This record gives sequence, structure tokens and C-alpha cells, in this order.
Amino acid sequence: MTTARDDGDTTTTLDPADRILVDVDGTLAWQLPRACQYLDETYGVSLAPEEVVAWDYDIPGHDDHAHIGELIVEAFERDPEWYFGGMSPMAGAADALARLSDTHHVAIATHRPPETHDYTRAWLRDHDIPYDEFVEQVPENKAILPGRALVDDYHGNVADAVEAGMEGLLFAQPYSDHAACDGATVVRSWADVLRVFDLA
Ligand SMILES: [Mg+2]
Repeated sequence: MTTARDDGDTTTTLDPADRILVDVDGTLAWQLPRACQYLDETYGVSLAPEEVVAWDYDIPGHDDHAHIGELIVEAFERDPEWYFGGMSPMAGAADALARLSDTHHVAIATHRPPETHDYTRAWLRDHDIPYDEFVEQVPENKAILPGRALVDDYHGNVADAVEAGMEGLLFAQPYSDHAACDGATVVRSWADVLRVFDLA
């Protein structure tokens, strides 16, 4: 059952207590190696994924001082199939979502542009990553979506979730700022996520 919302979005009316929102980039998909590959192949700039400690990181040797976030947008606008299709899943992601889907309603909630969602769905299918729902229109504040918990690598999203009374699970990445989402649980692997939901 769905209900129309004021912004034209549709949202299921299932019990939010069972709904877990799951991000894609940096959470299910290992984005940084792909971004660094693009940077190397396009601009000849060598940057290791673990060196990306913030999204506004200046790319050394890049004339325009482009930030990595801008380069990621450039990469997927040029060739979304190459960019999104070539990411590796985070270790244990497929098994963990299979376990979570057995007991909860798993909703994929990514800030990737809606016009690229078919690439994301294909990637999830190719890597046998199960889910119950794919949210088409994700608001800037993901916590507007009903749910019990959000698993996300971006501290801003996790802080929004905690503020809205949801469980916030910060999937730790080099650029994650744990101090910016007080009250969240920091997880370093999908095994950690399963432990939080007593599924380990
Ligand atoms: Mg992310």
C-alpha cells in the first residue's frame, strides 16, 4: 500500500519499526577505488582511496583544484555504466542484506540521481544483493523517510537520522566524521551491522 505525499513522492505505509534504510556509495558499494581509477585514467593523478579523508579534498596536480565530489559527478555523467557498474561490493554486503531482509524490510535509499537508478538496480542484481524496496526519490534529509534505522557512510545523513529518533549506523570510511553524528553507532563492517541487529 502506498500513499502520495505532498512532494509527489510515494512511501509505503508498512511498519517503520521493521524498515531499515540502506545507502549505496561507501556502504554497499566501494566507491572510492572507482573514483580514484577515474582520476588516474582521466587526469593522470594517482591518489589512494585511503588518502581521501574528506569530500572537499583538493586533488593534487589537478589544475582546477577540483574536489573529489565534483570529479565523481563528472565521472558518472560521462559514463554511468562504467562508473556505477564497475564498483566492487563492500565485503559481506550481499550476505548481510540477505540476513536483514529475512527479518526486516530493507529499503535502498541513495542520493544518486534518480535517472541513474537503473544502473544501481542492475549492479545490485549482478552482485546478488537482495532488498525489499528501492526508494526512487530520496529527500535531502533521508530521515524524512519512515524507518527504524539508517545505515550510511555520510555522517550528515546519519546525524539527521539520529535527530529524527532513528538508529543511526555510521559505516566508517576514511572521510567519515564520527564526532559529527553524536548518538550514532559506528560500524566498520557488515558483520558489525548484523551484530547491531542481533543477527550475527
Ligand atoms: Mg554513501
